[in-house]
Formats: sequence, C-alpha cells, structure tokens
Amino acid sequence: CGIVGYIGTKEKRNFLINGLKELEYRGYDSAGIAVLKEGEITAFKATGKLSNLSHKVEHFSSSGFGVGIGHTRWATHGKPTEANAHPHWGQYSYIIHNGIIENYKEIKDELLKDGVKFLSQTDTEVAVHLFEKNVKEVGDCFKAFEKTIASLQGAYAILLITKKEPDVIFFAKNAVPLLLGTNAEGEVYFSSSDAPLVGLVNEVVYLEDGEYGWAKDKEITLLKEFKPQHLDFKTLTHDKI
Ligand code: GLU
Repeated sequence: CGIVGYIGTKEKRNFLINGLKELEYRGYDSAGIAVLKEGEITAFKATGKLSNLSHKVEHFSSSGFGVGIGHTRWATHGKPTEANAHPHWGQYSYIIHNGIIENYKEIKDELLKDGVKFLSQTDTEVAVHLFEKNVKEVGDCFKAFEKTIASLQGAYAILLITKKEPDVIFFAKNAVPLLLGTNAEGEVYFSSSDAPLVGLVNEVVYLEDGEYGWAKDKEITLLKEFKPQHLDFKTLTHDKI
C-alpha cells in the first residue's frame, strides 16, 4: 500500500521507517524493509503497527553507501502474515510491490514447474523469481528486469534490489503511483506519494503508467514501451515540491 526507496550514504532505516510513517494514513496490515550494503542484503518484516517494525530495526546500522526499500502492505493475495509481508526474495534479489499482478497464477505455475520454492501466498513473489529466471536466461539484470516487467499484467509500483547490481534500484509503475526524487547531494529517493519526500529532494518525477527503469547513484534510466531515454540531473523533467 505504501512504498519508499533510497540510494545514498545516510542511515537508510531512518528514511525508510519515517517515510513509511508518512504513508501510514493509507492503512496497512504489515511492513518491511530491505537494505543492500557492501554486497549484503538485510531484511526485516513485522505484522501490525509500524512500531513493531521500528523496534526490530532499532539496532540495525545502515549508514554508508547503499540502497534500501520499504513497504507497507494492504493484503490482496494471501493473509496478513509475516511471511506474506514484503519484501519478497529469491536467491539474491528482493522486491516490494503495491497493486495486483493479475496474471500471477500463470507465472507461478510455470515457475513451480521449474522447481522454484515459494515462501508466501502473494501475487508479488512471482515477480522476483521470474526476474531471477530471466537473469539466468539473458545473463544481464537490466535486460532481465525489462523482460520481467513486459510479462506482468495488472497494477504495480515495484522496487527491486539485487546483489548482482548492488548500487541499483530497479523500478516500474503502472496504474498505481510511484515518484522519484533527487537532490544536490546525489541521493535518489522513491515513494508512492510526495509526503515522505518533502524537505529531502529538490527535483521530483511523477512516473507515468508503463514507465520503468533503474536508478544508479546520479544516473537514472527511464524507459517506456522499450524506448530508452537516458536522464541525468540536468535533463530530468521535474516539478518542485
Ligand atoms: N498484492 C500484493 C500483496 O497482497 C500487494 C498489496 C499492496 O499493495 O500492499 O501482497
């Protein structure tokens, strides 16, 4: 139901937890974060109030360059349990998602045939396993992400991080909101609404339906219908917030 993401050197859990608090009003049943730093991903999840999650991450230090993602869930597929809370993961990649992947059953059946083990009942989890299957097939995370997004039908705001591209947040948006913000310090922020970004960014892009791409440090690649468009700070079309 709510999404935040961050690339930069600051204590990541602070923005992730505070950002999710700003999105609390939208309602949720569980929450989770994942941080990728120095090649390692650490994830935390909790059902119920955000304070349950913030207690779990109290002693988790996540400053120094890295990427982080955070999610509040409003269950559509699978009960509001800790296993169904986001992020969901495969062998080396972690995903968060708002919305509904309409064709998840077909994708799941194919993946089950390949022997993939599922840890949750969510529609979301198929996307992370499909991504890793595609990485195996095409040998490159960027092409694999593109291929994954092309296979998904439905409504989604997605953020994905992977140990294979440790400085990158992959993102995609269709029919539910997703924003991307940047600032002069070179940080990149994501959110499903502008509230968590106020005071932190000076440029913001409201992604359009069908847009997806990847953010790496100061470089953001934004694609739509497979027509690449490389953006940097100067060319980002933006609104001030
Ligand atoms: N459909 C997903 C789930 O049930 C995402 C729900 C949401 O938008 O929070 O886990």
